[in-house]
Amino acid sequence: MSSKACRICKKESKDKNLDLNILGVLICKTCLKNITESNIGTLKYGYYKQVIKKMWIDYITANC
Ligand SMILES: [Zn+2]
Repeated sequence: MSSKACRICKKESKDKNLDLNILGVLICKTCLKNITESNIGTLKYGYYKQVIKKMWIDYITANC
């Protein structure tokens, strides 16, 4: 089974229904909110972008 911890903040999820599951990777509502509210060009946005990019690469390498 895949991890139930948020990929970004590493916190264990209490309610999986509150989390977004992207390609088998969990992102909690808090982090998702942070991502969507980050301004493009900021350090935080750059960080989230890298995390999501890494998720895509992991997914592609595992499934293609
Ligand atoms: Zn999180």
